[in-house]
Amino acid sequence: MTAVAQAILPNEALWEMDRAHSLHPWTNFGPFEDKGSLVITKGQGCYLWDASGRRYLDAVGGMWCTNVGLGRKDMAQAIADQAERLAYANYFVDVTNDPAARLAAKIAELAPGDLNRVHFTTGGSTAVDTAVRMVSFYHRAKGNPTKTGIVAREASYHGSTYLTQSVGKRNGDRIDEFDYKSEGIWHLASPNCYRRPSHMTEEQFCDDLVAEFEALIAREGADRIGGFIAEPIQASGGIVIPPKDYLRRMWQVCQKHDILFIADEVVTAFGRLGHWFASLDEFGVQPDIITSAKGLTSGYVPLGALIFSDRIWDVMAKGGHRWFTSGLTYSGHPVACAAGLKNIEIIESEGLLEHTRKVGDYFQSRMGELSALPLVGDVRGRKLMLCVESVANRETKAVLPDEANESKRISDICEDMGLLVRPLGHLNVMSPPLVITESEIDFAAEVLEKAIRRVTDDLV
Ligand code: PLP
Repeated sequence: MTAVAQAILPNEALWEMDRAHSLHPWTNFGPFEDKGSLVITKGQGCYLWDASGRRYLDAVGGMWCTNVGLGRKDMAQAIADQAERLAYANYFVDVTNDPAARLAAKIAELAPGDLNRVHFTTGGSTAVDTAVRMVSFYHRAKGNPTKTGIVAREASYHGSTYLTQSVGKRNGDRIDEFDYKSEGIWHLASPNCYRRPSHMTEEQFCDDLVAEFEALIAREGADRIGGFIAEPIQASGGIVIPPKDYLRRMWQVCQKHDILFIADEVVTAFGRLGHWFASLDEFGVQPDIITSAKGLTSGYVPLGALIFSDRIWDVMAKGGHRWFTSGLTYSGHPVACAAGLKNIEIIESEGLLEHTRKVGDYFQSRMGELSALPLVGDVRGRKLMLCVESVANRETKAVLPDEANESKRISDICEDMGLLVRPLGHLNVMSPPLVITESEIDFAAEVLEKAIRRVTDDLV
């Protein structure tokens, strides 16, 4: 088996091994049985290569995560050096390690306001899961034992643990077979301006969304609601850019009722919108807790972090002798934290936030040209997050029937032409590495346009 695993195998042979033994995340069993897809063997910058040597521009950025680009010697070296020096150390209770201590301090320096406290996890789901539990811990410690409920939104994705799947609701109506926790979790409407009721202006829509939150608090009682969680831009739910001032107003409602505001910045932190964190710099909100992962190590190794305020720390720690019973074997993992430190150093030294702000605007305007195509209902995004939404009718915004499968067909054609975009319902989504250049954006826009035109022609 070792010899087989080490030999260089073609796509098909690797797919046979995979199909026989692997259950992938979010597998749709039908198509998976019929056809394998890519076997990726190499990455460099914004590019991936498959086992047959074909190159693809990865406009998806892995899974919203390869921010500083793949194949970097400086990242690999930092990881290797740390693995050799200290690959693992227990980080529980009162033991720390060099990279974990430095990274916590660095994150606290970059995070907005008094978000000076960091709890490391293994990824985004575990960060959000812990954040939701921290909400209960905080309010209980404050003497409000019933203030444990969480308000989230439709079309949100917060992770794949039992609790985070319960809090998120990516598909509106759930498509899957699992049970979820529903007690003490409420979902408000998604702030999707494109899909807002047609008689409303964006301002009226925003008023409506805020009123919905206030009505929920009035109905359920502020003494039962401890936290509100929001991705600043809903990512997997369809690159939902909220109406102007929506997040600030929701935050103000939270402040009025002592509801902690959790900004789920698993996608948006560490550069994707041209800031370390988007909440304050892009949306004017000072969250109580920020959850992050992905861009924190640019996907080189798994790491998540929740960053919370001194105010929360003070309440939780007051009186001492209270256990924060949450921790993972790999919390504060030295190799992951060394990768995080090097990643932040690269973003700083290469000016990738400034680059993202500049190239992100170009990305938006270049892809915005696709909105002239008859199949395209909306092109929306901010900086290096973007989606193209297909519709059957641009006036009514009616979607195509499921059988049209247009976004998958568009992404398949792109793949044949050397571009990876992500099909998601009726959307094609992109979140390229921050190091992407204008000429790579031109290539992506040209290929995507051809693919959309070809699928449009096939549909008529
Ligand atoms: N939160 C958001 C906004 C995400 O997009 C994701 C993953 O895509 C998660 C949480 C979960 O992160 P992870 O997959 O690292 O557990």
